[in-house]
Amino acid sequence: MRMKKLHALKDELRFLLIVSDAKINSSEARAEARARERSEHGVVVEVIVSQHQKCARCWQRRDDVGTDKTHPELCGRCVLNVVSEGEMREFA
Ligand SMILES: [Zn+2]
Repeated sequence: MRMKKLHALKDELRFLLIVSDAKINSSEARAEARARERSEHGVVVEVIVSQHQKCARCWQRRDDVGTDKTHPELCGRCVLNVVSEGEMREFA
């Protein structure tokens, strides 16, 4: 049930966790981890340092930072928020 709620957040899970990216994997699909913690609910959290550039506006490390030539210091989400009505979020 908890996993279903986390999956429902989709890409917005990263905003809830205040990280640049968040993915939900089965325990068999674990990647190399720099740090791990195990909760009393059997959830394993792996923290991996992102190799992507940091966005100057939101400070998230995203693979699309610099793809917009007009705003090379921003990620795609921040470009949307700066030049248009902004992103649509459902949960967070
Ligand atoms: Zn950004």
